[in-house]
Amino acid sequence: MKQVRELEEVLYKTTGKEKYKILNQLSEVYEKISVQKSIDYALETLDLLQHVKGNPKKAEIYIRLGDLYRQTNEYDKAMTYYQTGLELSKSMKNDKKRAELLNNIGEVSFRLNNYDQALEFYLKSLKIREEIHDKKGISDSLNTVGNIYFQLKNYNNALDYYQKSLSIRLELKDDIAIAKSYNNIGNMYSMIKDYPKALEYYYDSIRLYDKGGEEKLRSSVYNNIGIIHREKGELELAKESFEKAIKISEELGLAYNHANASNECARTYLQMKKFNEAEELLKTAMNEGRKLNARNVVQESNQILSELYNEKKDYKNAYNYYKQYADLKDSIYGELSGKIAEIQSKYIAEQKEKEAEIYRLKNVEMAKYIKDLQKANDIIKKKNKELTEAYTKLDLLARTDPLTRLSNRRDILDKIKYEALKYERSGEKFIIVISDIDNFKTFNDSYGHDCGDFVLVNLANLMKSVLRKQDCIGRWGGEEFIFLMPKTDLEGGTLVAEKIRKKIESETFYYRDVKLNITMTFGVNVFDSIMDIDYCISKADEALYHGKYKGKNCVVRSDEID
Ligand code: GH3
Ligand code: MG
Ligand code: MG
Repeated sequence: MKQVRELEEVLYKTTGKEKYKILNQLSEVYEKISVQKSIDYALETLDLLQHVKGNPKKAEIYIRLGDLYRQTNEYDKAMTYYQTGLELSKSMKNDKKRAELLNNIGEVSFRLNNYDQALEFYLKSLKIREEIHDKKGISDSLNTVGNIYFQLKNYNNALDYYQKSLSIRLELKDDIAIAKSYNNIGNMYSMIKDYPKALEYYYDSIRLYDKGGEEKLRSSVYNNIGIIHREKGELELAKESFEKAIKISEELGLAYNHANASNECARTYLQMKKFNEAEELLKTAMNEGRKLNARNVVQESNQILSELYNEKKDYKNAYNYYKQYADLKDSIYGELSGKIAEIQSKYIAEQKEKEAEIYRLKNVEMAKYIKDLQKANDIIKKKNKELTEAYTKLDLLARTDPLTRLSNRRDILDKIKYEALKYERSGEKFIIVISDIDNFKTFNDSYGHDCGDFVLVNLANLMKSVLRKQDCIGRWGGEEFIFLMPKTDLEGGTLVAEKIRKKIESETFYYRDVKLNITMTFGVNVFDSIMDIDYCISKADEALYHGKYKGKNCVVRSDEID
């Protein structure tokens, strides 16, 4: 404090250029004493530096403001300052600091529910930490990436990252960090309802936290343990855990944890029919929740109180509390779904931007596709309320060929793999056909690339319309297509291919008044003995090339060339 007083005294006597240095020092010193004061001094410093170009201190101050606003939970502001700080410190030499900055920006994105942006920053940070072999940093980054996947309900990936992080932490013998990992893994198992495993990890975590150091997390873990015991119907054990969580948070003045644990404990009391105990806790939780402006806590208290009065057959109170609960729930849900739509549209827009970039370089025609996609996007934006739904749709896009809208190579290969698995079990044969447009290059060469694309799209549509319901078609490469025909033998597959070939040959295509004659050559193979997929496809390919050699516009069976 002495240092603060001295500095503040000097500040009054100083004017001009020197002043910002003292303001900045004050902000630094206050960082540990009063976050608000530190913010005020930092803002004042920036104000003075506004017209100074290229002051190396500037980046540092922006980053400090990011840190400070993160502490006061003002994440929007934190993000703005961090981003300017990041921009100004592009040439930052200190990799460790840079990685930390990127990680913090990831953290803020995470808090703002912008998960894809968070993931991006976490991964950037991870990359630097790997480059400089910062083991602790790497383990922290891996853990945060795990958190993202956890939020996105992708538990496999979450577990994978948590485990990787944990193994480094074990190696570093960092008990607190290890305990955090155990708790995260416990949460993961809790979500997939593997309660014994969840408990195992939670207790491992508690054993380490009990040694001291991280009381806030310790109370959260006791709360988590309580929830699992209650799910398993072990009410007495649940109650004990919640009481521990309440006690710890009470001692440390952790109001949010206290309110939360009180709600959970009350729910347990209610199940034990201890109405008075439950009621008392709920009223405390509700008051605390109101003071903290934590609507989720208040909502929960209202809900449990409503259940409680219902049990006591006091229906008037039950109704009143239920109504308060429902009103709150609506307002929270309304905000949440808005937020989710926003995250999702940002994610989709960014994906589109990346795609747009790639395709712009490839050819102009693709711009049309992007417009279409953008339209589709608007529709998706409107329709999708839930994040998970959005991801399913994105997955579909990732499996679709943008030009022809057919399955892309990856998608069709997955379908073939699935058929091959079925074959192992049931011995059901299936057909692979590879087809290739004859003399396709002449369309491009004579009428331009647009014409080539026109042919691809129209052929794709035509072939799709001729195919049987159970069959699939995908774009295999440039002007090659692949068909998968389940439950079909070589005779049947050849017949279908021949039908498609004839249909194409007899169809008239007009491209800008020019009549095009289009034909295709087909190679047919059956997957019927113990062969692998690559081999099966290569045999169909060989048959196709035999057809080209024979003069094109024909169907060739694999057994013709053996
Ligand atoms: P063949 O009858 O022996 O199959 O001859 P071809 O001319 O059809 O085959 P070739 O492999 O010589 O040429 C294929 C051409 O297809 C080369 C490539 O520029 C073009 N191509 C590949 N993908 C696309 C695409 O998406 N759009 C357009 N317009 N052309 C493409
Ligand atoms: Mg080809
Ligand atoms: Mg060709």
